[in-house]
Amino acid sequence: MGEGADRPRAGIVVTGSELLTGAISDANGPWLARELAGLGFEVAHVVAAGDRPDDLMRALEFLAGAGVALVVTSGGLGPTADDLTGEVVAGFAGVDLVPDEAMRVRIEEILADWGARTGFAGPALDEATRKQALVPRGATALPPVGTAPGLVVDRPGGPLVVVLPGPPRELQGMWPAAVAAPAVKDLLSTVPPANARLLRFFGLPESEIAATLREVGESRDLSGVEVGTCLRHSELEVDLRARPGAEAVAEELAGLIVERHARNLVSAEGATVDELVAQALLGKGFTVATGESCTGGLLAGRLVDRAGSSAYVAGGVVAYSNEAKTALLGVPAEMIATHGAVSPEVARALADGARDRFGADVGVGITGVAGPGGSTEAKPVGYVCFCVTTADGTVLARDPRLRGSRADIRERSVDTAMHLILRAVAPRGA
Ligand code: ATP
Ligand code: MG
Repeated sequence: MGEGADRPRAGIVVTGSELLTGAISDANGPWLARELAGLGFEVAHVVAAGDRPDDLMRALEFLAGAGVALVVTSGGLGPTADDLTGEVVAGFAGVDLVPDEAMRVRIEEILADWGARTGFAGPALDEATRKQALVPRGATALPPVGTAPGLVVDRPGGPLVVVLPGPPRELQGMWPAAVAAPAVKDLLSTVPPANARLLRFFGLPESEIAATLREVGESRDLSGVEVGTCLRHSELEVDLRARPGAEAVAEELAGLIVERHARNLVSAEGATVDELVAQALLGKGFTVATGESCTGGLLAGRLVDRAGSSAYVAGGVVAYSNEAKTALLGVPAEMIATHGAVSPEVARALADGARDRFGADVGVGITGVAGPGGSTEAKPVGYVCFCVTTADGTVLARDPRLRGSRADIRERSVDTAMHLILRAVAPRGA
């Protein structure tokens, strides 16, 4: 039925018993999945396997059976006895391991310094180096980012296997070399471009997108477009992916979704609210200051997450007690007594106070009930008051009731504040 062919599929195997005991959570599977999707693959499975060779072999065979064209593995490339990935992948490809002398010299060079510094040079290190320089016959070794080389192993009849180290920094550092390896390049030349569009919305429920898709689908064939929706950072992300041949209809669909939900659109090209806030503040030469109660500095932390933020962040005050709100940000004590610390009035005074005390162009005030205690009938858990004021007279206020745990409410408060800053500094249609 669908327009266009299916995409080549890829699978990921993350190895390491520590992933299965819950000691660490997998960072490589999601990272690789995004990269592979960006290259145009359909990621069919992410499999976690322990350090037992049989289990890793079964995972590889399972993926081969699922018809993937490419498998990427992470972990188990080190020098210790539980690092068996190279050996198992060689077995999977039906070849033996052979020493790669150039690679051995390379690893020796990398380790020479370390060995001398730590005093661990000697036979044990030599043995580790020898083991790490064993390469499945016919495979391409990828230069180490840490000490272990990666591998590209072409199994007769497929799939192609890319073997990468476990530490995320090493894996990510090796990825460009993996993608540039001849066998991987050959495979990539057969993969149609991803043609992905990422739309971001704030304050839009998923059901609205579903309704739009149904409606548009009545007059058009959307079977060649994969649409994924995902709630992340309080935003609704809509991911559109065209199968080959369905690019035009995907583009048209994106345009229709954007048009229909323009009021809630954050970006049609995938930019994050953090990027947009930074751009907007820099573009206007504005600085921002925060007066935070329930978020306790999380908003200031988010604003300074980006390199270069000193160009537009003036500072922030965590004013948790009523006394601090009055003393540090000039919130009148009578205002707190009359309206309560959690009130739109106090949020406004926190914003104005922060702007004033820091001499900033934009002030942000947040005060709310993060819970689980401290609620009243009028001000339940999750009731949070926001205000953004600017030197040129813009005042944007919201007082939603946010859902979730204490951590959720504080996190969603920061998300909400970021979107309010964006609206205040870069009004829609301006
Ligand atoms: P090493 O030479 O460091 O042993 P390796 O390629 O053998 O590298 P592993 O032994 O599997 O990799 O993992 C080393 C460490 O890297 C793990 O203890 C863990 O801290 C981190 N790590 C491995 N895999 C993952 C993963 N999927 N997600 C997050 N961290 C990981
Ligand atoms: Mg290891």
